[in-house]
Amino acid sequence: MAYVFDPAPTPCVPVAGLTAQFPVRRIFCVGRNYAEHAREMGGDERDPPFFFTKPADALVQNRATIPYPPGTENFHFEAELVVAIGVGGRNIEQADAEAHIYGYASGNDLTRRDLQALAKKTGRPWDMSKGFDNSAVVGAIHTVADVGHVDSGALTLSRNGEGQQNCDLRDMVWSTVEVIAYLSGLIELQPGDLIMTGTPAGVGPLVAGDTAVVSVAGLSDASVTIGAAL
Ligand code: MN
Repeated sequence: MAYVFDPAPTPCVPVAGLTAQFPVRRIFCVGRNYAEHAREMGGDERDPPFFFTKPADALVQNRATIPYPPGTENFHFEAELVVAIGVGGRNIEQADAEAHIYGYASGNDLTRRDLQALAKKTGRPWDMSKGFDNSAVVGAIHTVADVGHVDSGALTLSRNGEGQQNCDLRDMVWSTVEVIAYLSGLIELQPGDLIMTGTPAGVGPLVAGDTAVVSVAGLSDASVTIGAAL
């Protein structure tokens, strides 16, 4: 195959304990998946799950420093459990969903909250509030073979060492297997897809100089530091 210019490299996430990397295909995100956060965003916690996406090349590696993004004055962190899909499928049953999971990671769904609020108000797409450059921080993936299935335990975020978000994964409105079942009814999941499963209450701003660390019990952290604007 000849290309008119070199194709971009495949975005990858390290896998704990392996030298081989996890090649990322797409990044799906669940909106409002913790009741308290749904309420703080003005929603109803019993709404069915909804999804938005980030480009795979929005991926940020653990411990990276990223520039403060353009176009916002209210840049937010969102601590999340990330599910890495290893086996694709469509219309996956909840009872079969775990067999499609390769592993789990900590993640941070970085958000331009002011642009998201404007999009909600005007009925416009969320792409520029959610799917911008450097908006998907994902820590090392831990395989199911190593850590089993991660559906309980603490999910926390600290900003400059101070706790901001703290919940248990059992507080998710839609569990990981429910999310996989629902999402695979809308699109065919593929190996390499990541699902950011939603954030609990306590979201807040990041400014230049801040470091945000997301921790999920039993997994590696996902840390990011915010640099100056470009
Ligand atoms: Mn989120």
